[in-house]
Amino acid sequence: MKKFFNYKYGRKMFFIFAAIGTLFLIVAQCGFSKTIQLILMIIGAVFVLGGYLWMFILYKCPHCDTRLPWDGGLPNHCPSCGEKLN
Ligand SMILES: [Zn+2]
Repeated sequence: MKKFFNYKYGRKMFFIFAAIGTLFLIVAQCGFSKTIQLILMIIGAVFVLGGYLWMFILYKCPHCDTRLPWDGGLPNHCPSCGEKLN
């Protein structure tokens, strides 16, 4: 179970969560009643925020716990301690 809680998984989960959340937000615009629309938008927002939170908590160097940069791809080496990431 521990291997799922590393930086790589955190990054993957962020994209999955954000995609699901965005999907809910789009579907919510498709002419449902106000109540259903609101529920869909809340679910969507929870997924997007949950994705960010997951990334915020898990996307960091396994060696020195420094948060990794969010822009661009996964770095090969930690920008802080220089340890190889893989
Ligand atoms: Zn590091």
